Amino acid sequence: MRTISTYTLGCKVNQYDTEAMLEAFERAGYAPVDFGQPSDVCLVNTCTVTGTGDQKSLKTIRRVAREQPGCAIVVCGCLAQREAEQLLAMDGVRLVVGVQRRAEVVELLEQALLDGQPINAVAPLKGAGFENLFVSRHEGKTRATMKLQEGCDRYCAYCIIPTVRGPVRSMALKDVRAEAERLAAAGYRELVLTGIHLASYGRGTDDTLLDAIRAAHDVDGVARVRLGSLEPVVVTEAFARALSEMPGIMRQFHLSLQSGSATVLKRMRRRYTPEEYSKAVGTLRKYMPDCAVTTDVIAGFPGETEAEFEETVEFVRAVRLARIHVFPYSRRKGTVADAMPGHLPEAVKRARARKLIEVGNQLERDYVSSMLGTVQPVLFEQPAGEPGCGLAEGYTGQYIRVRAKADPGDILPVRLASLDGTLALGEVETDTGGRYQ
Ligand code: SF4
Repeated sequence: MRTISTYTLGCKVNQYDTEAMLEAFERAGYAPVDFGQPSDVCLVNTCTVTGTGDQKSLKTIRRVAREQPGCAIVVCGCLAQREAEQLLAMDGVRLVVGVQRRAEVVELLEQALLDGQPINAVAPLKGAGFENLFVSRHEGKTRATMKLQEGCDRYCAYCIIPTVRGPVRSMALKDVRAEAERLAAAGYRELVLTGIHLASYGRGTDDTLLDAIRAAHDVDGVARVRLGSLEPVVVTEAFARALSEMPGIMRQFHLSLQSGSATVLKRMRRRYTPEEYSKAVGTLRKYMPDCAVTTDVIAGFPGETEAEFEETVEFVRAVRLARIHVFPYSRRKGTVADAMPGHLPEAVKRARARKLIEVGNQLERDYVSSMLGTVQPVLFEQPAGEPGCGLAEGYTGQYIRVRAKADPGDILPVRLASLDGTLALGEVETDTGGRYQ
């Protein structure tokens, strides 16, 4: 039997796409093996959001070619969309697919092998529709990712994604429902709704993001729905109130910030001010007081002064964000920011990123500490501790990692009793009348 291994760089959307392509290979009779094991085919799903994404993608392809000279390498994803010819010329690469035509990946590879000629299958993105990729299985047994939306047309100054992922397109509501039903039937208790720019879901149609969230949430057997990255502009009173009325919506909201300085946000071409961001957080807390708001921040955008950087540090503290993903600014050819004056030395960007990471760690400890003593439903995902000790780990709705006596797959009410770093140690509450079973 022919075998396939996969390696994914980048975001949850890429993980979803890899899983869909792997399932297509399995349907065609390929057996999956772990990455690093000898395989007939290796699929590398690349990322180009930062220079590090590019380098790791290229390094992975070179490693496979070096370690497995006979392996047919399939390269797909964002870097493939951007640099198809360069990738096609690399040793071992038989097929390059970008961010479309992934549903045809098996046929394309078999054609390339038959012809003895590598194929560049990168398709132009203008006018592209939403490509339904069916995924029925995910890493782990309890939580599944759904990709509802592709593309972005915001063109933030630093970001290459609109160029490589193309225009906004959305999964039809009936397909959202059908995929949620399929995943619930396969036993997944929690769905994570993602997209390249989820806030744009439904653009150009009559459907809204709220419609899509409701469609997934209302499926029988879906116990929990977690939302991917949002932007402050979608958080209206009506949106927050509607979410608070859906019991299965997890109280963790990722609101992209990128900078807490009004002047930097403007240069970044983001479409909100720090005040509007604070207001969105306030609106979420008004309807869901214990929600966790997490974010992304870029350190060292071109021209960012020490004072502007400090504004960001003060802002994230003042808003009491629960977790921050920090990225040092990465220069991307073809973006508006690349041509801006005032690029900062790497050492300055790294030092600012380090400071923000420290601030973020403290904010995370503060947030998790503030939840001690409360009872939260936890979806247990995997066994923990010594084999046979009966402990398992999972997450609360706010994405606090919890360890307690439970079985993977259970959703149980847990009193958060103490902390080990940011891991909460808890005790299952038995007196709930089965509310969380
Ligand atoms: S919203 Fe901005 S940062 Fe996000 S993908 Fe679109 S262009 Fe990039």
